[in-house]
Formats: sequence, structure tokens, C-alpha cells
Amino acid sequence: MPTHITLVQGDITEQDVDAVVNAANSSLLGGGGVDGAIHRKGGPDILAECRKLRASHYGSGLPTGQAVATTAGRLPARWVIHTVGPVWSRQEDRSELLASCHRESLRVARELGARTVAFPAISTGVYRWPLDDAARIAVRTLREEGEGFTELRLVLFDQRSYDAFQAAL
Ligand code: ADP
Repeated sequence: MPTHITLVQGDITEQDVDAVVNAANSSLLGGGGVDGAIHRKGGPDILAECRKLRASHYGSGLPTGQAVATTAGRLPARWVIHTVGPVWSRQEDRSELLASCHRESLRVARELGARTVAFPAISTGVYRWPLDDAARIAVRTLREEGEGFTELRLVLFDQRSYDAFQAAL
């Protein structure tokens, strides 16, 4: 069955899905953008679990391209899957790392038993990845690796991002 990929313009913290993906930073201790919004709305349980994960497994940070899950606190979702996107670079092709964020998030989601997963536009904010390119990588990876999920929802915060992802789709 082909992967059911949907597109919405909105706020990822309001999505009624099994798991939401967080564009985290490697410290796992919160940041701006999506990360800030998830911790603000989800409450302190998420951060508490992130701290535990740091202490037990990721003392030097969650590596770029990897993903790990916590509770979703007060969010409508059951889990938050934290992944660290690559900072965009003109010198170096880091596309594989951006694809890896999507692939690893799907792998973690599958392990959890999540059927519906919402993704933000990873790396396109503070990490400056060109929108059209990030959209192509995200859509391609969800298509290739998203077998078996009921819905993979791309949640775009603004019109420009929405348009870029719609074009990629
Ligand atoms: P990164 O550090 O990976 O670039 P950011 O959080 O800075 O992550 O930005 C990623 C994308 O998420 C940007 O397009 C930004 O506009 C968008 N964004 C910010 N807040 C939210 C939110 N609450 N829900 C969905 N997308 C959001």
C-alpha cells in the first residue's frame, strides 16, 4: 500500500497523532522554533525525560541524523520523537543526514507502535536549509521508508513552507 502522506498548515503541538517529531538540537535540553513550542506546550515531563536520556545514553549529545523518543507530556500526541537535523552547509552535502532524520524517526515510531506521525520541516528554520531542497528530501524519504503507517503528516508553520512541500509532493 502506498504511504499516506498528508500536508497541513499549522502548529505541530496541536496535532492529534500518535507521535510528533521534534526538530531538536543535540543537547536535548530545548531550544527555539518547534523545539521551544513542544516543550512549552508539552510541559516539564518531556524535558525531564530528555535529561534522563542525556544522562544514560547521550552525554555528549544526540548525534545529528539520529532520533529518540520521550513521552509527549500534555500534548495531544502520545510520544515526541526528537531528532537532530543537520545545519545547512554550502561546502558539504549533508542531505544524507537530513534523510536520516526522517528515516530514523520512522524507525523509532515503528518500534513504539505509532500509526500516525507528524513531521515539521526539519532543518529549515534556525538551521537554514533551503526550503525546496529540504521538502524534496523529506517527501522522498517518507515515500521510500514510510511503508505501513496509516498517516504521515507534514505540518508546515507558514504558507511559504506549505507551498514548498506541496510542490515536492
Ligand atoms: P531547525 O533548527 O531544525 O531549523 P526550527 O524549529 O528552527 O528547526 O525550524 C523548523 C521549521 O519549523 C521552520 O520552518 C519553522 O517555521 C517551523 N516551526 C516553528 N514552530 C513550529 C510549530 N509550532 N509547529 C510547526 N512548525 C513550526
